Amino acid sequence: MSAINVKALARQNVRRFLNSFDTVMTDCDGVLWMHMTPLPHSADVVNLFRRLGKQVFYVTNNSTKTRNDLVEKCRTLKFEATKDDILCTAHLSACYLQSLNFHKKVYVIGSEAIAKELEQAGISYCGIGPDPIDQNISYSVFEKNPEVAAVIVGFDEHFSYPKMVKAATYLNDINVHFIGTNTDERFPVSNDVVIPGTGSLVRCIESCSERKAVIMGKPDKYMAKMLMERSNVDPQRTLMIGDRCNTDILFGTHCGFTTLLVLTGVTALSDVERWKQSERQEERDLVPNYYIDALGDLLPYLKE
Ligand code: PLP
Ligand code: CA
Repeated sequence: MSAINVKALARQNVRRFLNSFDTVMTDCDGVLWMHMTPLPHSADVVNLFRRLGKQVFYVTNNSTKTRNDLVEKCRTLKFEATKDDILCTAHLSACYLQSLNFHKKVYVIGSEAIAKELEQAGISYCGIGPDPIDQNISYSVFEKNPEVAAVIVGFDEHFSYPKMVKAATYLNDINVHFIGTNTDERFPVSNDVVIPGTGSLVRCIESCSERKAVIMGKPDKYMAKMLMERSNVDPQRTLMIGDRCNTDILFGTHCGFTTLLVLTGVTALSDVERWKQSERQEERDLVPNYYIDALGDLLPYLKE
């Protein structure tokens, strides 16, 4: 077993390190911004990457935004971006169904963003919005829509027992496709409150349907496959930047990219130190090649 190489980037090597990449993939929340607040100098760094001739892709697991929403958000927060630079899980879910030549209906547990991306792909859907518990109706009388041939599970603040019944009932037919947007278990919050993420909802439906979802987001490779089909990406000259090791860093490792962890989001250095010493391969796989405190710390080296 080869030694695992996690080190803070040595100052003199930063420039050489950055020159060794043509493509930079960056996670969004926790690397570029926190919700609607940009992280200091991260926009300058990303825009300079572009000016230096690197292809930059924004890769987010957030299923509540369309590509258009994310272009808009990038512009508002001063990150240069076009639609083609964005990889997001609402869009990928629609692309995935298109690649299957899917012409039926999708039952969606998720947000308006998924609905909009499906609409743009010409795919019909149902299920968006609240599905309240009706004490007078027995779940056993739920009648399946015969058009439904796929279920997508993304982030849904209206997630409910009736939705579980419907999703699991559709998925009881093995020919019905099962798509999960992403596996992030929780959202990072600064206080003691735990906010369950989409991964918790996907697992819930996996559990009651006794099936495994095809996952669109990081760490699964589908995102990279889509990108490689559309663009010229050489994994050996690609840097993946992320704040969460079990999505971003694992994704980079799976795809053969060099990985850089920033410490402005989910994963702490103490987690990495623990995984480095772990006897379990799954934990050692979470260890990034490099880390820095914040993306904005690269700015002086790009300006030289
Ligand atoms: N899913 C949802 C619903 C989110 O709001 C976010 C972050 O805002 C994420 C996932 C994680 O996004 P990212 O992959 O950009 O960190
Ligand atoms: Ca993130």
